[in-house]
Amino acid sequence: MRKPVMAANWKMYKTAAETTAAIEKLKPLVAGSAHADVVVCAPFVDLPAAVAAAQGSNIEVGGQDVFWLKEGAYTGEVSASMLAAVGCRWVIIGHSERRQYFGETDETVAKKTVAALEAGLKPIVCVGERLEQREAGSTEAVLAEQFSGGFGGLTAEQFGGLAIAYEPVWAIGTGKTATPEMAADAHRFLRAQIRSRFGEAVAEACRILYGGSVKPENVKALMAQEELDGALVGGASLDPVSFAAIVNS
Ligand code: PEP
Repeated sequence: MRKPVMAANWKMYKTAAETTAAIEKLKPLVAGSAHADVVVCAPFVDLPAAVAAAQGSNIEVGGQDVFWLKEGAYTGEVSASMLAAVGCRWVIIGHSERRQYFGETDETVAKKTVAALEAGLKPIVCVGERLEQREAGSTEAVLAEQFSGGFGGLTAEQFGGLAIAYEPVWAIGTGKTATPEMAADAHRFLRAQIRSRFGEAVAEACRILYGGSVKPENVKALMAQEELDGALVGGASLDPVSFAAIVNS
């Protein structure tokens, strides 16, 4: 049995004070949610507030990006060991918004993933096709390329430390959700990639999350697919009541 990961991606929302208030509100709402890992990925500057507010609860905190070197003259960047030092346990890597707006590539995803694992963080590595790629019938080719370029070069042991988020780009922040069957097909394809690269045991253990307009109203149908091992939730995670409803679905 794979333990689900229910992760919030707050994107560029909330100040530190708003972070504290949101996590204080979320804590009692998910206190009984031992069935899943509950994760909040907040903006960098909010991470100390998030970690402090989450202390003593079952909520773990993550970053939304990381740089691959430990330190140096890289203005504006934050290293994996810095995230770990502030109390993060997780980090999102390769989100489609990073790929679209900030030049993230499979190559940078690969470097960031290794750096995060070396710092003891659990990466949630995002993959997913754009609308035109789905319409051209190249979803599986895109996923295969992101898989081999982003984490196919890891060792099996390293790979065991990460989770994957399948996030069809056309479903992120658009209100369009992949049908449960579409999501399950993509997850099965990804798991087959893992199986052929790393073997059966690693494939069975890997948690593959779904992301893309997950809401309290559609989460049950999505999670009913046994291929889906949790969710990465953007917009609907900003409200603690809505995120808790998703976690507790
Ligand atoms: C995300 O940011 O990863 C995401 C899936 O966003 P949304 O839930 O808003 O589509």
